[in-house]
Amino acid sequence: MNDVLHDLFERNRRWAAATEAREPGFFTRLAQQQNPRYMWIGCADSRVPANEITGLDPGEVFVHRNVANVVVHSDLNALSTIQFAVEHLKVEHIMVVGHYGCAGVRAAMRGIRVGLADNWLRHVHDVRLRHRRRLDHLPPDQQEDILCEMNVIEQVGNVALSTVVQDAWARGQPLAVHGWVYGLKDGLLKNLDVTMHRPDSVVPVFSAALKRYPRRAVASGEGEGEGDADIAFGAGPLGH
Ligand SMILES: [Zn+2]
Repeated sequence: MNDVLHDLFERNRRWAAATEAREPGFFTRLAQQQNPRYMWIGCADSRVPANEITGLDPGEVFVHRNVANVVVHSDLNALSTIQFAVEHLKVEHIMVVGHYGCAGVRAAMRGIRVGLADNWLRHVHDVRLRHRRRLDHLPPDQQEDILCEMNVIEQVGNVALSTVVQDAWARGQPLAVHGWVYGLKDGLLKNLDVTMHRPDSVVPVFSAALKRYPRRAVASGEGEGEGDADIAFGAGPLGH
């Protein structure tokens, strides 16, 4: 065990030396202050590291990660991180980044019990239930990929509706919230085109995004009375 950890310190020394050789004064400069333009809200999955994926150095992206990249209005950890990023660091872009093959999303999709995290993943499960008419008619693999995307879209809405972001927009601070998905199989980021950059962009962006996921055809007599109920439900709290 100690050998393994020793190796990490060894790697750290090599990385620090190489970084300093490539850019003399790198650490001294960063120690003075950080000035990132971006905040990344992503999954805790070890295969989705923000800096490496975007080719950014330390100091260039402010990161918050949790299981299945969920932003909940009562999560003081996420909200405090967003507040610090927006009000103190003045980041200009917040990206919520999901990833295909997310074990948290899979557990929520399949109803798999994993332990304490079931309670956290209930938020993803709620997304699934809200949009089940857009999901249930798809093949299982596709359902999980689409739920990964829908979860990102919902979390982008949650970030946009947070008091921190709403207050920033009210002050006229330039700030955009984006939704991306990362592919474990090809290492590429996909832009879900759900960027929200002002209060009146939230509902139209949210609604347009969900309409890209067709609902299953309804058999005659079954009734389609819900209309776009999941959009209305999702957009309801947004329309203030
Ligand atoms: Zn994940």
